[in-house]
Amino acid sequence: MTSTERSIAAAEAHSAHNYHPLPVVVAYAEGAWMTDVEGRRYLDMLAGYSALNFGHGNRRLINAAKAQLDRVTLTSRAFHHDRFAEFCTELAALCGKEMVLPMNTGAEAVETAVKTARKWGYRVKGVPDGRAKIVVAAGNFHGRTTTIVSFSTDEEARADFGPYTPGFEIVPYGDLAALEAALDDDTVAVLLEPIQGEAGVLVPPAGYLPGVRRLTAERGVLFIADEIQSGLGRTGRTFACDHEDVVPDMYVLGKALGGGVVPVSAVVADRDVLGVYRPGEHGSTFGGNPLACAVALEVVAMLKSGEFQQRATELGEHLHQELNLLVGTGAVEAVRGRGLWAGVDITPSHGTGRQISERLMERRVLVKDTHGSTIRIAPPLVISKEDLDWGLDQLRAVLGS
Ligand SMILES: *Cc1c(COP(=O)(O)O)cnc(C)c1O
Repeated sequence: MTSTERSIAAAEAHSAHNYHPLPVVVAYAEGAWMTDVEGRRYLDMLAGYSALNFGHGNRRLINAAKAQLDRVTLTSRAFHHDRFAEFCTELAALCGKEMVLPMNTGAEAVETAVKTARKWGYRVKGVPDGRAKIVVAAGNFHGRTTTIVSFSTDEEARADFGPYTPGFEIVPYGDLAALEAALDDDTVAVLLEPIQGEAGVLVPPAGYLPGVRRLTAERGVLFIADEIQSGLGRTGRTFACDHEDVVPDMYVLGKALGGGVVPVSAVVADRDVLGVYRPGEHGSTFGGNPLACAVALEVVAMLKSGEFQQRATELGEHLHQELNLLVGTGAVEAVRGRGLWAGVDITPSHGTGRQISERLMERRVLVKDTHGSTIRIAPPLVISKEDLDWGLDQLRAVLGS
């Protein structure tokens, strides 16, 4: 038995099978490259679903974490700590908003957004108690809690986990008329991914997000943008909403906010929204802890320079140009995305998404399939153009074009 086989067998025996990982056991990683327990090197073209936008072992982030590890790592929110105010101030400024509510995982931040919108609905908008409605889109992915899977349209994610939380209405993604029809006096929020990541990197039609912004503003409804995967540089802008000059009422952030080092998530909004909370009404033991704040502060500082957004734009143009050539060969049915982020629909005769991912792994490129025949390409933004090209060479080889 190899180390890889031993490790996978033990994981199979002693961990719940809620994932179906590719059979590679990573031991070390730096930049866009991962090394497995056998010493094989792989190009990471997934980047932890965009949690690793700044690459593995990014020196600035690791140094920020190390410095903080030697000072203080956790206080709970029972006390103030000296990294908290700076983190909230800087993150709010990056978002052009006034207030931050820090949590840990993406799902917690989405839950926080849902709770905030409901409370705002009752306290500010004047919705009758228990009637608040939140409009969401079909094909959404917002996390895995019982409330969040209640409004998922993915049967795998949802079946057997009821009873479901009421208060959500699902409309088709990208359909402004359907969304408008769903808005009523009890609607407190529209919750959307500006680009649907898990659904296969679906970019809504031009004008959709501005339309949602206009309708929600007219109807006194909060627009919540889940930028957990699309935000923080991935698409070439700080937020995917920026491409259409849309400013939502609430940003929901996670993944890359923790720099691939620690889980950090947040809801960011103005005082008229996040100001609804009083002590005791919401919280998290680890939310906004010193280590998380120190790392996320460095993430915010790195995003302020615009260099990562610029890189995502330039490399993204190249990536999409190359992928679109594959549509011409017939190996690929469609390519979607923005910046250094692409959903690639493989022509079924060339294999399932899983098979393509496995064949890429044999060629030392790591990606992950989503929804049958789609693979998602989202390398760390620090990837070199040469490495990206090498990865694309492997994709072409696997597709026989
Ligand atoms: C990953 C993701 C989440 C959930 O984040 P977790 O940290 O896995 O809980 C929510 N929304 C979007 C858009 C995501 O991509």
